[in-house]
Amino acid sequence: MFAGVEAGGTSFVCAVGTGPGDLRERAVIATGTPVETLAGVAAHLRRFELDAIGIASFGPLDLARGRITSTPKPGWSGAELVAQLRAELGALPVGFDTDVNGAALAEWRWGAATGLDTFVYVTVGTGIGGGGMAGGELMHGLIHPEMGHMRLPRHPLDPLATGACRFHPDCWEGWAASAAIEKRWGDGVQASDLGGDELELLAHYVAAGVANIVCTISPQRLILGGGIVLGGEHRERMLGSVRRQVAELLGGYLEAEELGAAIGDYIVAPALGADAGVLGAIALAERAARAD
Ligand code: ZN
Repeated sequence: MFAGVEAGGTSFVCAVGTGPGDLRERAVIATGTPVETLAGVAAHLRRFELDAIGIASFGPLDLARGRITSTPKPGWSGAELVAQLRAELGALPVGFDTDVNGAALAEWRWGAATGLDTFVYVTVGTGIGGGGMAGGELMHGLIHPEMGHMRLPRHPLDPLATGACRFHPDCWEGWAASAAIEKRWGDGVQASDLGGDELELLAHYVAAGVANIVCTISPQRLILGGGIVLGGEHRERMLGSVRRQVAELLGGYLEAEELGAAIGDYIVAPALGADAGVLGAIALAERAARAD
């Protein structure tokens, strides 16, 4: 039996089980200080006979040391997630990765990326995260992908002169995540409130980042999730606009049916829905148990 811990800025979701058909004993623990939050997670999980734990966390992360690095979230820079859970629960195998790599692994294991070896999962919400696999391995490298902070040119019709990221004036997250929507169209405005040219502008930025990923990583499929793309009734319009604008931005340069007539099967929504985060953590646990 595996434990999955989805570590988020507002709450930690834990569950035990082995996959989508077997996910139980869920607990949601409000994110307080690292010590109290991880103690709460351990208290919940200590009751089970576990083979491995998976942690899918907000970041940025130091994957080798199992900790969070430079998060703006107060108190969480340097939080030793893996070491503290091991101290509480014993020397179990622990799989530790970004929340988006976890979700990508779950989609590969049970969802929209089964059978593929090179794919990307992007989530557009309060931030933009990207992860996935290249050649059958989760993407790591120097640190881990931070696709949300790739620099993208400002759209000439954008009412904003600069984006909403505090690190970069013109990155993907700064143009297209929720803070950008509020900066551009007003406090409290959500993607699902937008229509017409506004939705097209937002979809343009989502598509621009996707087109860059297609050019750099050449994924066999791109899974696009997060509340800004999928939330509300605009889901199909948003996905449709992104697909159309990706094809336009690529300008016919790349020849593949997936970027033309079959783009509806190429840029897709996640298959695992609301459980994707914690299932990602379960998938990381499963992988850690196999590697052990
Ligand atoms: Zn940025």
